[in-house]
Amino acid sequence: MAFVFPPPPTVGVPVHGTSDLFAVRRIYCVGRNYAAHAREMGGDPDREPPFFFAKPTDAIVVAPNINSPARIPFPPVTKNLHHEMELVVAIGKAGADVPVDKALEHAWGYAAGLDMTRRDIQNAARDKGRPWDMGKGFDNSAPIGALYRASQIGHPSKGEIKLDVSGKTKQHANLDALIWDVAETISYLSGLVTLGVGDLIYTGTPEGVGPVVKGDTLIGHVERCGSVAIQYV
Ligand code: MN
Repeated sequence: MAFVFPPPPTVGVPVHGTSDLFAVRRIYCVGRNYAAHAREMGGDPDREPPFFFAKPTDAIVVAPNINSPARIPFPPVTKNLHHEMELVVAIGKAGADVPVDKALEHAWGYAAGLDMTRRDIQNAARDKGRPWDMGKGFDNSAPIGALYRASQIGHPSKGEIKLDVSGKTKQHANLDALIWDVAETISYLSGLVTLGVGDLIYTGTPEGVGPVVKGDTLIGHVERCGSVAIQYV
């Protein structure tokens, strides 16, 4: 049997320091995983367990080069496109119901990423109890830098996470402020779905989210985990 159309291309994220690509399977994102951001979104960080949403795999934009930001068309419909700068975890070992003390065995690498969000659409959906998908999972909504192997950098539990928008620092925090750290996030998510090799987890954004407009350049860094760089055109 043959495919009636050619299968879609596999989405690959470059692995830093190699000519290899990491094939992306699924993209999960954590909501409200820094206390100060949970508060700025109207939540209560003390009482909310982690929750997850997903983006389509082809929302990935490979954007590792701060000297040549990936050019992205400004997305349709929204009047309030927000940046969310995040640490991304790449899963290199499948598993379900992974205990916290084994969870980092599943984290193969890390990257700097952006969970771009059509906040107006997300908030309208939230207020009506509808899905977030069109606020979160639109085309080009998941820019990511190169992947840094855990075998080389370890598993970041602290370190700077920072985003500049057109030369002004908008988000600046430390990974040690994650409410649910990487191991806890992997463990919790693996109880909801069976994690597979190639899955990415965007671990949530610190405070300071805000709007970007056409023409803005976004340069993000996560300590030891590289950069992500995009420009809206
Ligand atoms: Mn996010």
